[in-house]
Amino acid sequence: MILVLGGTAEARELAGALHARGIAVTTSLAGRVARPRLPDGEVRIGGFGGPDALARWLVEHDVTSVVDATHPFAERISAAAGLACAVASVPLLRLQRPGWSDRPGDRWTWVADLQGAAAAVGLLGERALLTTGRQGLASFAAVRAVWFLIRCVEAPGPPLPPRHELILDRGPYTPAGEGALIDRHRIDVVITKDSGGSHTVAKLDAARERGLPVIVVRRPARPAAETVVDVAAAAAWAATTEHPRRGRRALADARQRLAE
Ligand code: NAP
Repeated sequence: MILVLGGTAEARELAGALHARGIAVTTSLAGRVARPRLPDGEVRIGGFGGPDALARWLVEHDVTSVVDATHPFAERISAAAGLACAVASVPLLRLQRPGWSDRPGDRWTWVADLQGAAAAVGLLGERALLTTGRQGLASFAAVRAVWFLIRCVEAPGPPLPPRHELILDRGPYTPAGEGALIDRHRIDVVITKDSGGSHTVAKLDAARERGLPVIVVRRPARPAAETVVDVAAAAAWAATTEHPRRGRRALADARQRLAE
């Protein structure tokens, strides 16, 4: 069975492609979203309990390979996958969409993290569209000079910036829709993670059209791993790891290492 670490559109597409080829696939979701869009194949929900527990899970479920298709900002699960796959002798591939690059007309300021975005936002505008997700919003809690339009899939918990409005939406978004949102709320600066991909890129197009500054949070470093950038390449890789299945010896070795 192939384990796809999910939580992204690409993970869903990959599970669908493998399932369509008759390859057994289980997608793992963290359980952050109350009603996630479910992929084809089996689904398990919730954390594993760290790298050791993930390694045990791989062995117990006879996992032949793992595709880490998590979001580029999901640091901990990627680190855990690297450790667990090494311990359990399971091949690991990362499916990671390329980051965004600025184009003529863009006014981007790159920052290292959300704290950097919070420090920069008051220098660039007064009304910010904040699209970095519900985690880490505490970084903006002390920013009083800026009003925030916070857009998340699920409602965030406190602390939040003192002056804000919250909208819950999961996209997909269009440049026209994003432009209308920006105009309606008189947004003068946009804050985003460098998520990459097409699903959330429309806000960048809308900001460019209006000449608005954008604060872009750089991706965190993730452990080195064999990486592909598209679903077709990941599906081809996963299909080749499925046959032949790992030999009994490799599995017994992994069980022995985990027992020690
Ligand atoms: P994270 O910081 O890397 O992970 C925190 C913990 O959540 C992990 O240690 C693990 O718990 C559990 N976890 C994360 N992803 C999991 C998965 N696919 N299956 C099972 N357990 C998982 O991750 P995060 O940034 O909180 O993101 C959580 C999920 O949301 C990820 O699946 C990611 O693809 C998706 N997502 C994240 C972002 C983002 O901006 N971070 C954006 C869109 C989607 P244990 O230690 O107990 O195993």
